[in-house]
Amino acid sequence: MSGMRHSLKTVCVLCACALLVCACTSGAGANKDNTSDTAVSGDDMTSYDDVGFAMGTVVNQTIYSTDKNIAAEIVDLLTTIEKQRISWREEDSEVAAINRNALAVRGGAPTEISQETKGYLQTALEIAADSNGAFDPTMGQLTQLWDFDGGSEVVPDASRISSLLADVGYAHVHVEGDSATLAESSSIDLGAMGKGIGCDEVESYFDAKGDVAGALVNIGGSSVLTYGKKSTDEPWKVAVLNPRDEVDYLGALTLKGTNHVSSSGDYERYFELDGKRYHHILDPATGYPVDNGLMSVTVVGRHGAQCDALSTACFVLGWEQSLELLARYDAEAIFVTTDKQVQVTDGLKDSFQLLADGYTVL
Ligand code: ADP
Ligand code: MG
Repeated sequence: MSGMRHSLKTVCVLCACALLVCACTSGAGANKDNTSDTAVSGDDMTSYDDVGFAMGTVVNQTIYSTDKNIAAEIVDLLTTIEKQRISWREEDSEVAAINRNALAVRGGAPTEISQETKGYLQTALEIAADSNGAFDPTMGQLTQLWDFDGGSEVVPDASRISSLLADVGYAHVHVEGDSATLAESSSIDLGAMGKGIGCDEVESYFDAKGDVAGALVNIGGSSVLTYGKKSTDEPWKVAVLNPRDEVDYLGALTLKGTNHVSSSGDYERYFELDGKRYHHILDPATGYPVDNGLMSVTVVGRHGAQCDALSTACFVLGWEQSLELLARYDAEAIFVTTDKQVQVTDGLKDSFQLLADGYTVL
């Protein structure tokens, strides 16, 4: 049995998510948290919804603006970020160029990069260091070996895993001036923070445009931006996916103003063999899928790339070891274990509502 939430079924779930969000858009009043100085009032704005495709997944948007082109511009923006900067699969991307130069020249050759990509790499390296390598952006060769994205259902050879693991290490990435160098024959894979990077860039785009009062942008169900406010006083509602049910949600988050929400789970891409689940979040210490009794981690915070990388790091680290890391980034989280227990950090307890049967909030 295998799973990939980027399936048709998923499209239905995501559309349902959009409906959940839409169902919560009526009400009166205004919340001014975190909106930019130039943001227009949402009071006289009607919202519109859009479903598009970018970053290999479905992008659901609800936009409060008189400008009806924004949703399409966001899809284009996300596609450009993916193709020109962060996807290792795209030959012309900056990350692909860094990886090529690592493999072509012993010790790596510097690759010129944009200020944006430099910022993404710096965030990745910061979280890699702060998580003691639980999140590691140099896992590319291992993620390609497992090939969950390609639908592979084979456990790779142990000796191959350990030989690739030897070259993994965020300390091999050096960012200096306008260039980045990857010093070992590993590969950069920013897949664990790509959608969060997308959410950050969408937020900046809205800030710069100034005519978006509020928006909810949901990239693939696993990274969500709530921006500004609706035309009503009602807060945003963000669905938290149920790790074992593609239709019913685990719960809902009630959030005001601008927030980023990112989830990592053992349900996104996986296969089962001899009763064991092999999924796409790898432990950089072993090269194998994390097997620590967690099914999902959802992180809420102020920055998208941070939340996305943190959700992966926290999935690797587990509840106890994640708390200090989360506090350092002023982020909150929801952890869900395979025995259906839900742990919520203090700052999120009032915002999270459990909806699924069979789960217990500790
Ligand atoms: P999704 O992209 O499905 O929302 P994540 O944000 O958790 O899920 O990212 C998972 C992806 O990150 C994997 O498919 C892989 O490319 C990469 N990855 C897996 N394990 C790690 C890790 N420990 N550190 C950094 N990246 C990882
Ligand atoms: Mg992530």
